[in-house]
Amino acid sequence: MKKIKRRDFIRSIGVSLVGGSILASNVASSDVKTQFKWKMVTSWPKNFPGLGVGAENLAKIINQLSNNRIKVKVFGANELVPPLEVFDFVAGGGAELGHSGAYYWKGKSQACQFFSSVPFGMNAQEMNAWLYYGGGLKLWEKLYKKFNLIPRPAGNTGVQMGGWFNKKISSPKDLKGLKMRIPGLGGEVLAKAGGVPITLPGTELFTALQTGAIDATEWVGPYNDRAFGLHKAAKYYYYPGWHEPGPTLECTINKDAYEQLPSDLKFIIDISCKAANIDMLADYTSKNNQALQFLISEGIKINEFPKQVMKFLKKISEEVIDKIGKTDAITQEVYTSYKKFQEEVTPWTNLSEKSYINFRE
Ligand code: CA
Repeated sequence: MKKIKRRDFIRSIGVSLVGGSILASNVASSDVKTQFKWKMVTSWPKNFPGLGVGAENLAKIINQLSNNRIKVKVFGANELVPPLEVFDFVAGGGAELGHSGAYYWKGKSQACQFFSSVPFGMNAQEMNAWLYYGGGLKLWEKLYKKFNLIPRPAGNTGVQMGGWFNKKISSPKDLKGLKMRIPGLGGEVLAKAGGVPITLPGTELFTALQTGAIDATEWVGPYNDRAFGLHKAAKYYYYPGWHEPGPTLECTINKDAYEQLPSDLKFIIDISCKAANIDMLADYTSKNNQALQFLISEGIKINEFPKQVMKFLKKISEEVIDKIGKTDAITQEVYTSYKKFQEEVTPWTNLSEKSYINFRE
């Protein structure tokens, strides 16, 4: 074969070196065809701060990393299915992806709750450690396999706030008869503490609090709570969110759809979920901080729960979770792994993060 001089070669393909990079990128995007048109159903209103944004963000990462070989379209709550039907819809193949929280599926298995948040359980950093490097994700996969789903961590809010109260909480007695919107395990703990847990969707919280239909509500943290105007309907803002110390959000993937993918696209899905998982926590940490400063400037009273109230709630939480952890074989396996990891990681958290933060002040 005749050797072509570099200068002649450039002339022969008819592009200047400056134009070459533009041409190359045009070729790349028009050459790659979308091979998989996927739907993502979510439990959040479209573009809802934090959660909905997190789902959109995950879709964007998948589209971009795969150069649109997978093209994901996101649907907000009720656009294709109601928020609490995401699990079944994805399992049945109605959509390939779901973005939600595992504690909504306790009706499927009590074990699900350990993959989102547990009262007095692990924070975001510890949850990620358990899921990625402590066997947690393997158990989660085992649990979801029989539902034809593959789970991936895909977001975290960080430690939530204790909630908005129109009654002052000075002692455990103040929890008696307290009508509070608090879902999941936290609600079960409140019931055992003598309170009345109520389940309401986020959009109804403001009116329920303002009209006195409820005495208190938890939601997420300053970022989301401010968006609902909860500071205009309650006197006291309590911390910390003992009931949700670092909730993991999930991406569920239809197993058949996932298994159709070539291995590079499988990897892209996995790594996109990991990126979205970290990104949501950063978004919450940044925006919570800004919203907290706003609430302080508005003169909102922000109180720490009294020690004796927290001690009381912790004791009841352990009883409630211990009982739930024994529901069946798989729940017991998950609970045992979760509990063991929390016990083992706590000494390290104490002498690293906790000690450092105490000294920083
Ligand atoms: Ca919450």
